[in-house]
Amino acid sequence: MRRKLVAGNWKMNGSRESIKALLDGIKSGLDSVGNAGVAVCPPAVYISDVMAQLEGTAVAVGAQNCATEASGAYTGEIAVAMIKDCGCQYIIVGHSERRTLYGEDDAVVAKKFAAVRTAGLTPILCVGETLAEREAGVTEAVIARQLDAVIELEGIAAIGDSVIAYEPVWAIGTGMTATPEQAQDVHAFIRGKLAGLDAAVAENVVIQYGGSVKGSNAAELFAKPDIDGGLIGGAALDPEDFLAICRAAG
Ligand code: PEP
Repeated sequence: MRRKLVAGNWKMNGSRESIKALLDGIKSGLDSVGNAGVAVCPPAVYISDVMAQLEGTAVAVGAQNCATEASGAYTGEIAVAMIKDCGCQYIIVGHSERRTLYGEDDAVVAKKFAAVRTAGLTPILCVGETLAEREAGVTEAVIARQLDAVIELEGIAAIGDSVIAYEPVWAIGTGMTATPEQAQDVHAFIRGKLAGLDAAVAENVVIQYGGSVKGSNAAELFAKPDIDGGLIGGAALDPEDFLAICRAAG
């Protein structure tokens, strides 16, 4: 039985003060969340602060990005081992903002995925099509290509130790959510593709949906059989909205 996971991707937002208020708000409502897993992914410089503030809670912490390399002369980069050292459990890889704004191609994403697994952390692997790709009818081909890059490097068993986040690029930060049916269709495609390689991996892997999820639309998305929670951007910055999403998953 898969356990739903709601992860907040704070992106490049927040300050010490606003993060304390956000976490105080989230902590005050955690009792109502039920049995969904909950994680937050702050900007890297705040990870240690966030870890300290979440001590004693069941909320996990993740990073939003990592280096492909283990250590050395890579100015400005942050190694997976450093993220692990700070206590993180998850690292997001392949977010569409990294792919489009920072030119991370499938090969780089696969390398980061491998680095995360090598350290024993859990990658949250983002996949998703642009609006042009959806309109051209190549959504499944794009997602298959993004998944295959990782499977070819790391093998299908590696997917079993990871989380997949289906995030249609056209729905991220736009207020345009995929309908529950549109999302379920792609989630079913992903699970079916994985099942062709390993039925147990396909059955057990958590596949989150991401793209303008809010407290008001989370329940109908999470009610779909292949949607196992969400990767949440904007709404994760509002404690009430984030808790409402967690309750919808729990
Ligand atoms: C995201 O950045 O992963 C995301 C899903 O953002 P939003 O919820 O704001 O669309």
